[in-house]
Amino acid sequence: MTMNTAVLVTGAGPTGLSLAITLRRYGVPVRIIDRADEPAGVSKALALWSASMEALEGMGVMDAMLAEGTNLNSLRIGDGARELAAMAVGKGIDSPYPFPLLLSQARTERILTARLSALGVEIERGVELTGLSQDEEQVSAELKHPDGRTETLHTPYLAGCDGARSAVRHALGIEYQGYTEPYTYLLGDVLIDGDNLDHQSIYLWWHNGGTAALFPFEESVWRVFAMRKPGSGDEPTTIAELQEHIDRHGPGGLHLSDPSWLSVFHINERLAERYRSGRCFLAGDAAHIHSPAGGQGMNTGIQDAVNLGWKLAYVLNGIGDTDVLLDSYEAERRPVARDVVDAAAQKLHIAFNSGSKAKTVIKNLAVSIFGNLPAVQKKLQVELSETEIVYREGPLVALGAPPRKPKRTDVGARARDAAFVDTASGAERRLWPLLSELHHSLLLFEDADHSIAVDEIAEGTGDRLRIVRLDGRSDPTHAARDRFRFDGPGWVLVRPDQVVAARGKAGDLSGLNRYLDRVLRA
Ligand SMILES: Cc1cc2nc3c(=O)[nH]c(=O)nc-3n(C[C@H](O)[C@H](O)[C@H](O)COP(=O)(O)OP(=O)(O)OC[C@H]3O[C@@H](n4cnc5c(N)ncnc54)[C@H](O)[C@@H]3O)c2cc1C
Repeated sequence: MTMNTAVLVTGAGPTGLSLAITLRRYGVPVRIIDRADEPAGVSKALALWSASMEALEGMGVMDAMLAEGTNLNSLRIGDGARELAAMAVGKGIDSPYPFPLLLSQARTERILTARLSALGVEIERGVELTGLSQDEEQVSAELKHPDGRTETLHTPYLAGCDGARSAVRHALGIEYQGYTEPYTYLLGDVLIDGDNLDHQSIYLWWHNGGTAALFPFEESVWRVFAMRKPGSGDEPTTIAELQEHIDRHGPGGLHLSDPSWLSVFHINERLAERYRSGRCFLAGDAAHIHSPAGGQGMNTGIQDAVNLGWKLAYVLNGIGDTDVLLDSYEAERRPVARDVVDAAAQKLHIAFNSGSKAKTVIKNLAVSIFGNLPAVQKKLQVELSETEIVYREGPLVALGAPPRKPKRTDVGARARDAAFVDTASGAERRLWPLLSELHHSLLLFEDADHSIAVDEIAEGTGDRLRIVRLDGRSDPTHAARDRFRFDGPGWVLVRPDQVVAARGKAGDLSGLNRYLDRVLRA
């Protein structure tokens, strides 16, 4: 039996690693286990979207990720020899990272593992969670070690980041609601030659009643996705089968070779009924799973981890109202996953479900017209980037009294980056690095003749609150103030996960007081 104050993170995929790093940044002791002896040799996810990179900046890994990744430029859609639309995906996102970054899941995990190691935690590999129980005081987890030894670990909180078949979710008896798509899908990581493909674009092509998708991956590898004819079984695929799909449904003139991974799989569209049971939480694929269309799974998991991480850390450090903080996790993140699951299913059905010839003609016409409209392209990019996610429900956003239809920088929505002048050096600085630190940031937009007195209100919040004054000297053109949509003096409180917690005009600090009282005081 092990008595431990460390949080147990089960599963060292991108979600578990992000959660463990976030907890360690706050000094919380962590154990992270993974039943696999080695990290996965193949990559499922291929790209990071803007909101994930915004969240990862605080973990100190973005320099390494940018150095290893490549920008994704466009999504090209066609039918046979005809390109129907070329949709830009690398521009127009309001973010310090305004592009999707092509970076394999294996590399992402490697960089996160190195960061966690630098924070003093090593993944315990070959260790499997086989059962758990909990009471009001603690969770007791049964762990099986590689040498056959079993350990009962007592921990204050347990996070199930153990993927789609989550042992934690099963042990908690939480239903994984949803369905399995009826068709069989094929995947191949291959080299392609005899083409003029742009290795920074995704190709989605349909022809002859079927669809093939090509995703750029690593330096010269392409990932091929295709759907098997209904009723053709689940036997392993071959490069010959993929070649046949590409010849029949793809852009033509492509020769596939050197497969590094071939797989046949079914797609699930599922959402856990609950994300929390007492002292246990679910995050990542353990909580939601959906079609890879849109490439959101890993990204949503990373953002779950960041949302849960700071709240658990506050509670463990004796800060804030435990119920407000911990109940807000499911209330905020489950609706986001519900939308992601629905949107991914819709994209999959539009792309892969072939209909009659007449339906294809209509689909082609719609894609040619709408797919080339800048407004449609922007909407798709913004949706995939997850930067416009808004938390509308739960006890935490309720403290800041969100408006009924929140816009960016309203309570529950994400903050924005902005430039300001460092009055000490005169240099221009960006707000985002400040918003990526461990504290809440209180941005005070002041006029020369109107400073906002917050010293009294901020008493007792210690280093959990950083005040940033943006006055006539640091924000001389009101550019930062405009980004937060104020036309006069006002304030915005931003959480460590860069979500707006509360905001108001200079003369009304009641929302600020309410939030600080419930969340930032010991
Ligand atoms: C073909 C395919 C393509 C995809 N493409 C994309 C994409 O482009 N973009 C994107 O964002 N997402 C994509 N995804 C989804 C993405 O891969 C997942 O969402 C992501 O891996 C989830 O991370 P996770 O950490 O939650 O779970 P996982 O990566 O599944 O990690 C869970 C970990 O838990 C461990 N574990 C399991 N059970 C136990 C136990 N009992 N005890 C201890 N350890 C345990 C496992 O060994 C594993 O390492 C794709 C998925 C697939 C299948």
